[in-house]
Amino acid sequence: MEVRYTNTRDASETVSASRAILNGLAGGGGLYVPTVIPKLDISVEDLSKMSYREIAYEVMRRFLTDFTEEELKTCIERAYDSKFDTRKIAPLVKADGAYYLELFHGATIAFKDMALSILPHLLITAARKNHVKNDIVILTATSGDTGKAALAGFADVEGTKIIVFYPKNGVSPIQEKQMVTQKGENTLVVGIHGNFDQAQTGVKQMFSDPDLKKDLDAAGYQFSSANSINIGRLVPQIVYYAYACAQLYANGETGADEKINVVVPTGNFGNILAAFYAKNMGLPIERLICASNKNKVLYDFFSTGVYDRNREFMLTSSPSMDILISSNLERLIYRIAGEDAGANAALMRQLASSGRYEITPRMREQLDVFYGNYADEDETAAEIRRLYQDAGYVIDTHTAVASAVYQKYLAETGDTLKTVIASTASPFKFTRSVMNAIDEQYDVMSDFELVDALSFLAKVKVPRAIEEIREARVLHDTECETDEMESVVRDFLGIG
Ligand SMILES: *Cc1c(COP(=O)(O)O)cnc(C)c1O
Repeated sequence: MEVRYTNTRDASETVSASRAILNGLAGGGGLYVPTVIPKLDISVEDLSKMSYREIAYEVMRRFLTDFTEEELKTCIERAYDSKFDTRKIAPLVKADGAYYLELFHGATIAFKDMALSILPHLLITAARKNHVKNDIVILTATSGDTGKAALAGFADVEGTKIIVFYPKNGVSPIQEKQMVTQKGENTLVVGIHGNFDQAQTGVKQMFSDPDLKKDLDAAGYQFSSANSINIGRLVPQIVYYAYACAQLYANGETGADEKINVVVPTGNFGNILAAFYAKNMGLPIERLICASNKNKVLYDFFSTGVYDRNREFMLTSSPSMDILISSNLERLIYRIAGEDAGANAALMRQLASSGRYEITPRMREQLDVFYGNYADEDETAAEIRRLYQDAGYVIDTHTAVASAVYQKYLAETGDTLKTVIASTASPFKFTRSVMNAIDEQYDVMSDFELVDALSFLAKVKVPRAIEEIREARVLHDTECETDEMESVVRDFLGIG
């Protein structure tokens, strides 16, 4: 059965999976959603005998139905290989009664690697299937993390180039070092003399510039984006929830058909939406617990039915969750609106014009599989300390938000179902916040002293991604003014 992808804001647009991946965003600002969620008609017992790659194939082939078996298997093999520092790809670690699904064993030690290591291969395959002869040029503005994960994913992938713009004085020294040491002939990293918004505006302008598009095409190039709303990032994220169910069963932690809960530290709502799709495929998932930091728009939404971004934006120790507009929530809204593109589009127009919308009681009824809560900065730090003291297990700040919210959920409900917590970053990525949470005396140490201290405390080897930036050579030193971004792109691609 073919799965097609339709526009959340325009029912007349329906495309194949490969087209949806190639286009990224649907027309009129809408997102692509599968017209049906396919069933995963394989028992957890059978899944428990499969490798990560095998489960990836079984999940993804049900969504990306216009990819051949060979195409999909090749993409999977190229993505989930020795870039990951464990053959399990996403190991499940039991600590203090919960199960932490470690999604941070890829190139940049955070969960974006799970999808960004396969997206380039899906994109190139999609281009060839749709008779696109041009090379694909990925253009990205980054405030830090996504840029590096995209660079690592696209580096040396034939038929692609990737150009990343970051605010020269607006990312952390470690983030900058990670990007400017990126290898790969097809990569370019540029520090702009401006802030993140200016980088993003510059990138958007280039995407919509018809003259640039014409010149690119003449030279055999076209732009594409590695945005988190691409269906090619969402589908690979469903895989690890199936893998978590399989591992629980394989380890004798759950019986056949035993339901579990899932807790996800949430920002743009991509990761938890993947868990929702996993549940709808038929996996034994009961509750979806949505964890926010102080930017608790989603908690308020789940408790009141009102989504309201009109509030102060707060910087926290879990920066990847500092988000006031969770783009992927639109896919859930579309669904609970009865897959009514008109109704969804009306709500999204309200969001754009007034920053808020309210869903109907009938829509709200369908949200009871979700539970939302949040953790503030003190609660997050306390959770890191508690888990270290009770179980000797060290988690990062994002995972700690999820873990703290799970403790609140337990206290409120007494629910005894086994629970998987999505662990979205290595503690080595946020070493200072993590070590300060354990003991404030660590604050006097330098960044790399902290890395070694963490390795000692957690009894975990320093990840390769961190060792590499200790010594790596700077390979990118391009800087430019905000109005020079286009000429930098033209130079790199050799077009006048
Ligand atoms: C991106 C990110 C998140 C949020 O994931 P969404 O899919 O945007 O909800 C959480 N934690 C970390 C470490 C991330 O990088």
